[in-house]
Amino acid sequence: MTTTLINPATGREIREVPSATEAETDAAIEAAHDAFPAWRDVAPGERARLLRAFAAIVGDHNEELARLEVENAGHTIGNARWEAGNVRDVLTYYSATPERLVGKQIPVAGGVDITFHEPLGVVGVIVPWNFPMPIAGWGFAPALAAGNTVVLKPAEITPLTAIRIGELALEAGIPPGVFTVVPGKGSVVGNRFVTHLDVHKVVFTGSTEVGKQIMAGCAEQVKHVTLELGGKSANIVFADADVAAAAAAAPGAVFDNAGQDCCARSRILVQRSAYDEFLGRMERAVVQWRVTDPGDEASQMGPMVSAGQRDSVQRYADGATVAFQGATPDGPDTAGGFWLPAMVVESADVTEPVWREEVFGPLVAVMPFDDEDEAVALANDSDYGLSGSIFTNDLGRALRVSRGVQTGNLSVNSHSSVRYWTPFGGYKMSGLGRELGPDAPYAFTEEKNVFIAH
Ligand code: NAD
Repeated sequence: MTTTLINPATGREIREVPSATEAETDAAIEAAHDAFPAWRDVAPGERARLLRAFAAIVGDHNEELARLEVENAGHTIGNARWEAGNVRDVLTYYSATPERLVGKQIPVAGGVDITFHEPLGVVGVIVPWNFPMPIAGWGFAPALAAGNTVVLKPAEITPLTAIRIGELALEAGIPPGVFTVVPGKGSVVGNRFVTHLDVHKVVFTGSTEVGKQIMAGCAEQVKHVTLELGGKSANIVFADADVAAAAAAAPGAVFDNAGQDCCARSRILVQRSAYDEFLGRMERAVVQWRVTDPGDEASQMGPMVSAGQRDSVQRYADGATVAFQGATPDGPDTAGGFWLPAMVVESADVTEPVWREEVFGPLVAVMPFDDEDEAVALANDSDYGLSGSIFTNDLGRALRVSRGVQTGNLSVNSHSSVRYWTPFGGYKMSGLGRELGPDAPYAFTEEKNVFIAH
């Protein structure tokens, strides 16, 4: 079985890649299971050294990995270089883990009590198509660092960078079976990670719908699971903010990666007295948003990842009134690609699909509000709670609203969501568990308690 990969900027075929069968998936899981005892027992300093070697080789291949992502996923070259660099940095960050995965000594009567953080065994990482490299690294780097072996399934349509990173791991000296990339279908490879008795944790990033199935499946074996799911994040702009700066930053917060970002600020709430000024300024920024061949150094936005994703976003646009939009490229090279412009809708009704549902494309809905309480209530009126931003120059308000909005990752006067030093994950239907930050490796361990009588 194979999958035909398409360059989303041109619509042309790139190549065929193998799609693993269930038997091939089982073989990869069994190899990971067999490799586990030796990897667990690699001395901490040596495991750290191997992870640093893995990070270095990924760093040496930054441009190659970035170009693969431009071709396979339509990411802009600037973003793709950052994404490959993020894999290198996350590996480097967690290479410090093996030498620091300390337990506790707890005072008790009659003896000594100590805890150990022991790896789980084989971890299955299931990755979506929107950020193939970073999301893979957020799973496999801390899992490997904590002494687990990993099988990783990239999304069916964007496997190229993961396959290459798997080869680089071997070149770096990571032993065979410790980190294996298994490209293929979710219903075959991903599902087998859930049902196979030798996979002890599933790390899933993707849609809320599939995430619920993964969680139900993992319940059968009481298997560890982390879910990073959808989002409909609010960007709340108060009239006391630097409105010009907020309007200039708003397009990047939703149109980056063509809006195919779980953290996209796809709802913008603007205080009524600043609404017209904000929208006027944002229109000027959107019209200038550079949607071009993603390989161009100056490109700010490439195409949708697939024809299906483009059509799905277009249906939302057709069901709303687009107030203003940017341009799409019109040269012969991009004629067959899956292009959409950056689009802005004024929303008057919280029941509209474009306001409630995760569009996952370059379409943002804007709505006015009157006061702080209403802003928080509107932001929280969502099944999701992944990310969000608050623009204000009032420190007390920044803190009150930060505590009031039910979401995992907030930024004040900026749109930063994911920094590998800090925890990342969602409230409500945006997920379960946290990735990244200093504690991520612990989520790939069991804590064992040992009491030794005097
Ligand atoms: P998806 O749920 O369709 O697929 C995600 C992955 O799961 C793919 O690798 C797919 O092959 C696999 N899969 C599908 N069905 C499966 C099954 N039955 N069993 C096991 N695996 C299965 O999602 P997508 O369309 O690839 O990605 C877009 C979604 O991902 C969006 O909803 C987005 O918000 C979400 N996302 C969330 C985060 C986050 O960190 N919270 C990050 C990126 C993307």
